[in-house]
Amino acid sequence: MNIYLDNAATTPLDKEVLDVMIPYLTENFGNPSSIHAHGRKVRSAIEDARKIVATHLNASAGEIFFTSSATEANNMVLQGAVDDLGVTRIISSRMEHHCILHTLEFLEDTKGVKVEYLDLDKKGNIDINQLEKLLQDRSEPTLVTLMHANNEVGTMIDLHKVSELCKLNEAYFHSDTVQTIGKYKIDVQETQISFLAGSAHKFYGPKGIGFLYMNGDTKLKPRIFGGGQERNMRAGTENAYGIVGLGKALDLAYTELETRKADIISLRNRFKKGLEGAIIDLQYLGNQEELCNYAVLNVSLPKTIKTEMVAFNLDIAGISASTGSACSSGAVHDSHVLEAIDADPNRKSVRFSFSHHNTEQDIDKTIEALAKIVGTS
Ligand code: PLP
Repeated sequence: MNIYLDNAATTPLDKEVLDVMIPYLTENFGNPSSIHAHGRKVRSAIEDARKIVATHLNASAGEIFFTSSATEANNMVLQGAVDDLGVTRIISSRMEHHCILHTLEFLEDTKGVKVEYLDLDKKGNIDINQLEKLLQDRSEPTLVTLMHANNEVGTMIDLHKVSELCKLNEAYFHSDTVQTIGKYKIDVQETQISFLAGSAHKFYGPKGIGFLYMNGDTKLKPRIFGGGQERNMRAGTENAYGIVGLGKALDLAYTELETRKADIISLRNRFKKGLEGAIIDLQYLGNQEELCNYAVLNVSLPKTIKTEMVAFNLDIAGISASTGSACSSGAVHDSHVLEAIDADPNRKSVRFSFSHHNTEQDIDKTIEALAKIVGTS
């Protein structure tokens, strides 16, 4: 089996998580809306999972809504802010995930929403002074949407500072926290935030289940109508086994946060040290110290015939990593994130993202393989 260093794309389902899910795929099959014992059993498991999520965020259970994905949660926020909260201006950045960027384009095109993108430096840091200046203009209802950590280069925003600026200037604040939920503690009482989104498959839970935290003082209207599930916010019979899995996966992630984090940081440091000893002209994209997601390392290499296809060549060597490149109409383009930070077109970058399941052996083999591809060993 390939060495898996693409944990920012998705993570393997933990065995412990699968174990708690199985009964909700088998004997606990009741419809959670049914009032009989079969239904109540499943309802109670869903509400337990909701409480787990709420507890870890220091939110109340009524502020957590389960969705099919973080993509759905992010769409709910942006579209709902415009339709239900009267937001006419959104401040964001060009390195957000496509589920944010494409929704912003849609809102600009169809609803005339003014979207302002913050300047980014070469490492992907937002210009916080520019954000402050923009927020001081309070002439129209404003939402700020900024991802907590970028999925390709790992650069983070100072969530607390941004939330303070938004609070001071009466703007709504949404953060796509998909890459940090379960890796960083977020306390919504300390760091006031209107909305945040998470996705179970990024923290060793199942795919197809996510959640939205919506501050209790903020009310969006439902966008899917039907049986009134999720307290009328999102109709449709709940993905009970997914929700149960999400709750367990998040609980494990926060309970084991410090040990997982220490393991990952140690692997990341070993990787950097090894690469620096093996590859000449090595660079990194994104922050490396402050405001840096410890689980991601984006390595930038001189462009050669072999590094041009670095992810493909790593794959052949038995290593799964990601370049973030997109292929459309037969042409391969650098990702929008690399464009947004004005990355050097004469270099090729590859993202490695780590898990506590990786081993030192994985790291050493990858260093060796990458050095071969670059041609320095
Ligand atoms: N936001 C970020 C930063 C992501 O990395 C991803 C997943 O790739 C998403 C949103 C979308 O999450 P989901 O797969 O739950 O739709």
